[in-house]
Amino acid sequence: MQATDRNLALLQRARQLIPGGVNSPVRAFKAVGGTPRFVQRAQGAYFWDANGQRYIDYIGSWGPMILGHGHPAVLEAVQRAALDGFSFGAPTEREIELAEEIVKLLPSIEMLRLVSSGTEAGMSTIRLARGATGRSKIIKFEGCYHGHADALLVKAGSGLATFGHPTSAGVPPEVVQHTLVLEYNNLPQLEAAFAEHGPQVACLMIEPIAGNMNFVRASVPFMRRCRELCTQHGALLAFDEVMTGFRVALGGAQSLYAQHIPGFEPDLTVLGKVIGGGMPLAAFGGKRAIMEQLAPLGAVYQAGTLSGNPVATACGLATLRELQRPGFYQALSARTRSLTAGLAQAAAQAGVPFCTDSEGGMFGFFLLEQLPQNYAAVLRTDSTRFNHFFHAMLERGVYFAPALYEAGFVSAAHSEADVEATVAAARGVWAGG
Ligand code: PMP
Repeated sequence: MQATDRNLALLQRARQLIPGGVNSPVRAFKAVGGTPRFVQRAQGAYFWDANGQRYIDYIGSWGPMILGHGHPAVLEAVQRAALDGFSFGAPTEREIELAEEIVKLLPSIEMLRLVSSGTEAGMSTIRLARGATGRSKIIKFEGCYHGHADALLVKAGSGLATFGHPTSAGVPPEVVQHTLVLEYNNLPQLEAAFAEHGPQVACLMIEPIAGNMNFVRASVPFMRRCRELCTQHGALLAFDEVMTGFRVALGGAQSLYAQHIPGFEPDLTVLGKVIGGGMPLAAFGGKRAIMEQLAPLGAVYQAGTLSGNPVATACGLATLRELQRPGFYQALSARTRSLTAGLAQAAAQAGVPFCTDSEGGMFGFFLLEQLPQNYAAVLRTDSTRFNHFFHAMLERGVYFAPALYEAGFVSAAHSEADVEATVAAARGVWAGG
């Protein structure tokens, strides 16, 4: 630590005015201890903290920065849009262009609405599903986070797991009485839930690759059954692709399941993060007949002063256009696999238990022999060892997510040299050097 630690000074100042000194809990380093880094600026695969220390950034704003920071085409689009005005509260052509782009890339979406955060998108999806089906119950899974709307704030992983709250204070029990929480990847429980409650279920919401309990995939047989049971019982299948959308593949996680399950499609999809390219922008969409239930056409109310913001849509649109360059996802996946394979090899050489998985530019790792399949198994992992690894890597200039419940993200700006430097740092840590 420097004689004058500006991160610490800023934290002390921030704590006077902002609860915990942060505007989103996981930023506080509560799980791993120590002083959060206050970011001064970022470029490409790096950011610099208030002490001027550089880090290889593997959180990328928790997913949005798939092109890396300050991509020239995105920057130019944002600067141009800003000159034309920040917000109008009236429709713009760019909103249509972004909607057209999303609908083109995700065929399950016929219509969509733009909002400003994943939380808003998830919350509105639930309301729409309930309004469209006339039913009340929703099914979610332990360890899946869908934003902090009351009805969804039950056993929601990541920040909440870290803070040990299975749910939050301030959420009355009657608000979550219609939320059924099941174990991820547990087929018998899924069958039983539909057998008992099927006719009352408005929707089943799932993170297809759960990034809020590190990185846990829903198995193909599990997802197939989710689809079949929803169809059979008239419930809507809602994919929360806030994290996975345009991150694991150009067609999202749904395109990966469609490779194994013929004709597979969710009814509704929740998007965020990458579609805004780092600006506050999210969306939800799906089948036309369902989406037409939204105001002003239908009876389900939903609105937003800043929805479809012109600067955010410019940022998102420029980002989505870059992603469609030939070979983008092949290169991104290869870089991510190079990182996870390098870490796995370094761990094996040092005799450290390690397992890892990745898809596109999203990855996870556990200091365990075997990948967990559900939240209970993730909770059984030893956080002390993770926390030590996290801090030792941070000291060496590598910024992984500051909690073992979080996925990691590689961007197109990460070079093979960045990956090699990361693996070399891990070797140093595990050699006790
Ligand atoms: N769904 C998922 C899968 C997420 O990972 C997140 C945020 N990490 C959200 C919803 C909520 O998005 P936001 O933070 O933009 O409200």
